[in-house]
Order: sequence, then C-alpha cells, then structure tokens
Amino acid sequence: MPATIALILALTATTAPPPVATSHLAAPAVVRWGRTGHRLIARVATARLSGEARRQVRDLLGRESLAAVSTWADSIRNDRPETSPWHYVNIPVIDSVYRPERYCPGGDCVVAALERQIGVLANRGASKAERAEALKWVVHLVEDIHMPLHAGDRGDRGGNDVQLTFLGRATNLHALWDGGLIDASGRSEEQWVTFLDRQLARRGDLRQIAEGTPETWAMESHDVSRDVAYPFLPRSLVLDRSYYDQVHVVLEDRLLRASVRLASLLERILTGR
Ligand SMILES: [Zn+2]
Repeated sequence: MPATIALILALTATTAPPPVATSHLAAPAVVRWGRTGHRLIARVATARLSGEARRQVRDLLGRESLAAVSTWADSIRNDRPETSPWHYVNIPVIDSVYRPERYCPGGDCVVAALERQIGVLANRGASKAERAEALKWVVHLVEDIHMPLHAGDRGDRGGNDVQLTFLGRATNLHALWDGGLIDASGRSEEQWVTFLDRQLARRGDLRQIAEGTPETWAMESHDVSRDVAYPFLPRSLVLDRSYYDQVHVVLEDRLLRASVRLASLLERILTGR
C-alpha cells in the first residue's frame, strides 16, 4: 500500500464523520462523478486562478463559469458516442503498470484524451472555438481522472457491474464513488467548497500535489481503487455507514487533489506560470 494512502487511512480512524443528512440519502441515484463532484472541483480551482488566467477563461467561455461547463462533456455523450471512452481507463487492479497499448488502444481513454485536449488548449494557433471546447474537456477530464473507479477495474467496468446497496438503496460501486458518497457526506455544494478551501489552507504540500501527469494521476486513482474502494467492500455487498466512515477521507483527498491540479494546469497552459 503506498505511503500516502496508508497515511490517509490512519487519519480516517481518528476523524469523526460529519453528520448524516437523511434528505440527501433519499435523493435519486447519481451517475458518473455526479454534477456536484464536477462543479465543486471547478469552483475550488477557479478560486485559485490568477486574474490573468481568469481573463483568458472569460475570453474563451464568455459568461459561462468553469463550474457551469464542467459537466458539458457528459451531456454530449449521446450525440458523440465516439467520445464515451475518453472519460475513463480500465487499468486492472492486479496490474501495477499503465500499459497504453493494452489499456488505451487507439488513444481512446481518459489519459490520452486529456493529453490531447491540453495540447489543443495550449495551441495559440487553434481557433477560439476549438480552444474553448478543449477547455471544457480539460476541466471535465482532470476531474474524471481523479475518480478512483474511472481508472481502477476488476473486470467489472470500473465497478459499474458491482451491484450493491448503500444505506438501504440499490446502486453500484462506480455510481457510489461518482456521487453517492459525496451526497452521503450531508454537505451541500456550497459546504463542500468551503470545506475543501479550509483543507487547502492548512496544507503545506500544494506544490507537490500539483505535480504529475495524466498518467500518474490515473495510476493514483487506480491505486485508491485497489487499496480502498474495493477492499473495504463487505462480502454481502450490503453497505452501511461504516463504508463511508472508512473511505471518506480518501474521497475528500481525491477532490482536493483534482482541484489543485486543475488550477495549476490551467494556470500553466493559459499564462505560462
Ligand atoms: Zn465524465
């Protein structure tokens, strides 16, 4: 188990879970990193951008915020089915190496798609429309690549085929990590943004967190799937509050890392800083 995950799990044992809001638990099942996950990462990242980077975002997106465009890539899946594989990469948890020829054939996975879109956004020779679309992709895919089950797989389509119940509701493992756990926190989007901002203010390692590449970020997610998301599943697949208690610090860490990296990446691409 990587040291960072061991540390996070040690923290979990001593961190009291936030109160449960039962109204959230009654909400319908969410699919993919859910709207809340995408939006809150984009909002926390936006607050970290320099004035110059924000001006460039405005120049490309007009009045739309990064949070507003953060779920656009999911909304076009039906119209552009060829983009469907761009949201994930199924790296088996039993493998510890990213093998693009096997797990990303034809560049049809989140790692290669994110690299391509970063290239378009950074290309000042590309049209404004092309760069605006690339920006929407970059925001969305940095978020997706941090969702553990968008990169870890046990032959079950990243947990999509693992049917389970969580707090009495039928869902699957992938959907649970995409939105179910975020909802179970009982925090609103607003409260999540405040919570992550406070966590960030306390961290002294933001520079290190910002490092890496799409490939290393995907492998981190893969490791979290292998070491946390799958192993804490009870054999019965009937999950109660204890699953949330065991994994929520890791989930929060994924959201925090995605926010820091999105901000740092956009700053680098848009301003060269
Ligand atoms: Zn997605």
